[in-house]
Amino acid sequence: MIKVHAPARAQVAVPLIVKQIPVGTMANFVYLLVDERSRDALVVDSGWETEPIKNAVKETGATVKFVVATHEHFDHVSTLEDLGAALGAKVVAHESSPIRCDVRVKDRDVLRLGGRRVEVLHTPGHTEDSVCLYDGSDVFTGDTLFVGTIGRFDRRMAEAMYASLHDVILRLPPSTVMYPGHDYGEVPSRTLKEETESNPFLAAKDPRSFIALFS
Ligand SMILES: [Zn+2]
Repeated sequence: MIKVHAPARAQVAVPLIVKQIPVGTMANFVYLLVDERSRDALVVDSGWETEPIKNAVKETGATVKFVVATHEHFDHVSTLEDLGAALGAKVVAHESSPIRCDVRVKDRDVLRLGGRRVEVLHTPGHTEDSVCLYDGSDVFTGDTLFVGTIGRFDRRMAEAMYASLHDVILRLPPSTVMYPGHDYGEVPSRTLKEETESNPFLAAKDPRSFIALFS
C-alpha cells in the first residue's frame, strides 16, 4: 500500500510518501517514509527480510538516514543491523533498549528528514523500550497499538500501557493515521478517531478499568 498526502498539520508543505511493506511470516509491517523534497527517508523496523525494503528504497530513489526500531522483539529487529549497513543508515533505538544501535533516543527527540520533523514518543507497556514515531499526520505504533487490538504486556506494565495509549497516542489529533507493526486488523491502517470508536481496549477510560479488562 502506498499513500501520498500532505500533512494535516503541515510543518512543511511538502508531501510525505508512506510505504507499508509486509515482511516475513508473522504479518509484520515495515514502513518507509520519504520526504518528497529532500528525498531523505526513514525506515521503521526491519522484520525478517531486507529485500522488500531495499527494493522499495530503490523504487523511490530515496536516501535512508535512519532505521528505527519500535522495540526489541526479534520479529521487528532481527535484520536491523544488516539493513542499516546495506543502506548506510544509522540504526536508532530507545535509550533503554538492549538493541545494538548507532543512536539512542529518548521521549520527544526529533529525527529530521530534510525540513521535516519526526518525533519519537516513548510508549512503554508492550516492552520497556517501545517507541512510536509521529510525523505530524501519521503515527507508527509498533506493537503498542494495532487495528482493533493492542499489544501484549506483562501485568506489571499495565499502568504504563494505559498511559502510553491514553496519555500519549490518543492525545494526538483524531485525524492522525495509525500504522501498526502487524497486519492484525480488518484494514491495514486507520485513523485514531476510527480506532477510538471501535477498539474495545481503548474503551476503558481510567487505569483501574483498563487493568480489570485483563484480570
Ligand atoms: Zn513485540
